[in-house]
Amino acid sequence: MKLFSKKPTEKPTEVGPCVQPGSRRNFLCHASTLALVGSAGALLGPAAQAATSMLPPPDLFDPDLLDLTFWLQPRTLNLVRPQSGEKLKITYWKDGDLNLNAYEQVCELLRDVQANRIFRMDTQLIDTLWAAQAFVRRYGFEAPVEITSGYRSPETNSRLIEQGLPAARNSLHLRGQAADFCLNGLHPQILGQLVQGFQAGGVGFYFRVGAKGGWIHADTGPARQWRG
Ligand SMILES: [Zn+2]
Repeated sequence: MKLFSKKPTEKPTEVGPCVQPGSRRNFLCHASTLALVGSAGALLGPAAQAATSMLPPPDLFDPDLLDLTFWLQPRTLNLVRPQSGEKLKITYWKDGDLNLNAYEQVCELLRDVQANRIFRMDTQLIDTLWAAQAFVRRYGFEAPVEITSGYRSPETNSRLIEQGLPAARNSLHLRGQAADFCLNGLHPQILGQLVQGFQAGGVGFYFRVGAKGGWIHADTGPARQWRG
């Protein structure tokens, strides 16, 4: 069964990550969780360190302990887009139904800001953003999802490549299937491992020194990971 719906018109199924009991994948998920918990303290930013109880616990990746009600709750996403100064807090999914008006507003915030073009974003990607935020929110970490890149038009993507910025020629950003984002105060290493736990696609880790820190690329393509 799929964790997320593939198309905006489909209703997501309510099944969490790592649902194949006894698989090697489960074992790997669990092992990575243990490593994550062990290293989390050193990786968290000052804001998160103030709330040490929000360290991701093992139940995220452990199918035996997975809280299925997590996937049944209304999906309220708190987004910011520094590039345009926009903010959006909206419930886009509730009781099995995608709210199309809310979905369109999310797509607008995830648009190509430079080209001012809106794209029909993959709802599975939106669910990934929501799940990361909702998961840490349960531990008192309330940061909005800060979007640095959502949909990219071919022109914008080409421009990024010309400028030497990390962008692939066949980027899934061009198909509305990728987003670059961070949660202020949460180290990208933790955020990325969290997103990997959802097994919803590819995850790129972009570590950067400085006040802005790094970010995570998440997409709904084949499962893979890399550092950029
Ligand atoms: Zn990206």
